[in-house]
Amino acid sequence: MVTAAETIIDKARSQGRTVLTEIESKELIREAGISVVETRLAISREEAISISKELGLPVVLKIASPDVVHKSDAGGVKIGLRTATQVGKAYGEILKAIKQKYPQAVVDGVSVQKMARPGVEVIIGMSKDAQFGPVLMFGLGGILVEVLKDVSFRIVPLARRDAAEMIREIKGYPLLEGYRGQEPVDVANLEELLLKVSDFVERNPGIKELDLNPVFAYSDGAVAVDARVVLEELS
Ligand code: ADP
Ligand code: MG
Repeated sequence: MVTAAETIIDKARSQGRTVLTEIESKELIREAGISVVETRLAISREEAISISKELGLPVVLKIASPDVVHKSDAGGVKIGLRTATQVGKAYGEILKAIKQKYPQAVVDGVSVQKMARPGVEVIIGMSKDAQFGPVLMFGLGGILVEVLKDVSFRIVPLARRDAAEMIREIKGYPLLEGYRGQEPVDVANLEELLLKVSDFVERNPGIKELDLNPVFAYSDGAVAVDARVVLEELS
């Protein structure tokens, strides 16, 4: 039986791509039982508006292009859009910004997604080490990972104990326990999420890199709002 995951991977390969789009990446990881923000592709301003109404406002719009990896750096992300007018305007602004910054980029359209409620931003990544094979990374999102490199690593496959340890050993762990009156994050759910990613990576050796950046963690679960999957080159 051909799984939906295989269909997505085959499509990218047939187009000579190893980098999956945000929409493809989210579909893949959703199949692995990981919750992702509902995300759809719009290829016109009108479609962006109608999708935003179907999903329910507020929404987020993002550039959908295999050539734009860091979407917000390029002016390709607009969050907190509350009205159809704002959605229409954001659609135009995103395409304009990308055209300026990446005139050669192939643009699929613009992704429209539900605006996730605020949570603690964490990141989960997988990369392959020449010696150890797939390795998972966990950290808090934003500057904590970029500047302070406050992250932990474990080799795939993870045991439950590994998942529990890698969350607790980052310096920023107190932020997950509830900081200054913030609600504590559901850490058991994050452990489960790491185990699901580990399983998914084990079952799909054709995946070279995976990034869920960020995942919004809540007191009652977690949801990935951005995803990027890179496939192994076929030799
Ligand atoms: P980039 O390609 O720059 O990593 P992201 O998709 O991660 O783009 O979006 C940038 C930031 O916008 C995220 O770190 C997050 O804070 C916010 N964001 C993205 N998508 C959503 C969403 N669906 N709901 C709420 N906030 C979002
Ligand atoms: Mg991101």
